[in-house]
Amino acid sequence: MTSPAAEPYTTIIGLEVHVQLQTQTKLFCGCSTKFGMPPNTQVCPTCLGLPGALPVMNRHAFDLAVRAALALNCTIARFTKWDRKNYFYPDLPKGYQISQFDLPFSSDGWLEAADSKGAFARRVGIIRVHLEEDAGKSMHDEAAGTADSRIDLNRAGTPLCEIVTQPDLRSPQEARVWLNELKLLLVYLGVSDCNMQEGSLRVDANINLHIPEPDGRIAKTPIVEIKNMNSFRSVERALTYEAARQWDEWQATKAEMGKTPKQTRGWDDPAGVTRAQRHKEESSDYRYFPEPDLVPVTVSEAELASARAACAESPAVLRTALADRWKISAYDADVLVNQGRELVAYFEDLATRVGEGKVASNWMQQDVLRTLNERGGTIAEFPVRPEAIADLIGRVAKGDFDTSRGREIFAEVLASGRSVADVVAALGIAAVSDEDLTALCRELLAANPRVVADVKGGKKQAAAGLIGQAKKKNPNVNPGRVRAICLELIRAM
Ligand SMILES: [Zn+2]
Repeated sequence: MTSPAAEPYTTIIGLEVHVQLQTQTKLFCGCSTKFGMPPNTQVCPTCLGLPGALPVMNRHAFDLAVRAALALNCTIARFTKWDRKNYFYPDLPKGYQISQFDLPFSSDGWLEAADSKGAFARRVGIIRVHLEEDAGKSMHDEAAGTADSRIDLNRAGTPLCEIVTQPDLRSPQEARVWLNELKLLLVYLGVSDCNMQEGSLRVDANINLHIPEPDGRIAKTPIVEIKNMNSFRSVERALTYEAARQWDEWQATKAEMGKTPKQTRGWDDPAGVTRAQRHKEESSDYRYFPEPDLVPVTVSEAELASARAACAESPAVLRTALADRWKISAYDADVLVNQGRELVAYFEDLATRVGEGKVASNWMQQDVLRTLNERGGTIAEFPVRPEAIADLIGRVAKGDFDTSRGREIFAEVLASGRSVADVVAALGIAAVSDEDLTALCRELLAANPRVVADVKGGKKQAAAGLIGQAKKKNPNVNPGRVRAICLELIRAM
């Protein structure tokens, strides 16, 4: 990966993110939003656009959207209205989409994201967040060889939040990191499940290049919008490809922004290229006008207060709070928070039981997360619960065994589903008394006069050679204790 500074241009990126809100029912009717149902089974006269059917706004969807906008530091409009965006498409039976044009419910916010390695932190401005209904889905069954196309309107009328950023991002990597932070935020707040396989979060990206000219002028390449990407990896790859393509085209044509219309391109993931689709519509092409079937929406102080309360603990706030509360590093807090709210709750449960954050965090990162990554699944399904790990940590602290033995016990608890106490008993692990330990150490010292001489000569680290021998004689010994007792005995010799 080349660093942005190594390129002879600056990459300018802005995003438009469509997020499906986590509601039971659609935005303007009572149909279910459940994913994966048989086609056209979750429809009614309103979302089918039958004549005479009237929309009624889903207030819960509006509340979720307000929560998202507040978390994005936006100003909430106290008065907002709906508009019709007119266009023809087979999956849009009404011939228009209900959206928000000139009075979106929120505007002027920001969200900051930093990569975990500290390479960059970027505050990205939010131009606006508005609500709209989704269209249906066209299914082109070309695989069947019949070139059959069908329409599924289950998705028609599903509530979508559209988040439009300023062109503040400066590299495809930044775009990916920022999108990850946005997704994390929306999932934390319960605004959306952001399930990208199910299309709950889709991204359009605008990109062009600013190129310094020899005369000091900055040339700007025509803006290209890459439509409808449903993975962050695709977003990063598509932007990387498009920046290189625009650079090549600039060198060949010197075509600048404004002289050619804004272009829409699609990302062909298997081929790894963007392809020209059409010239971008202007908003006048959509003949927006106010939706006559819906009343404007007003937002009360009480609604704002409850939305504010619901978004009090954003991932950014939580990272700082965790680091503070449990005295763990910013990096550790970042790793925990990025895994989601359930994992943070698991960690806090463990840390509370242990009464200490650092050791709990170590077990989370080295044992719980590593195992979760290997096995897959969620923390809720993880078979080893915080009480079991707290029990283990307590026994290590008491000196029953050391951390590496503790890890073996953890693995056995995980594999067998038995309690820590049962596994300890089954493995015959018992604390070795100081008396027995001392006897064992004397035996070792008698058998290793070289080590004794080395330690006496000032090479304390020579005692390490005794620990392996001690473990062979009795696997339950605590290595730290063996070392301490041996050094004490040698000192007294
Ligand atoms: Zn409906």
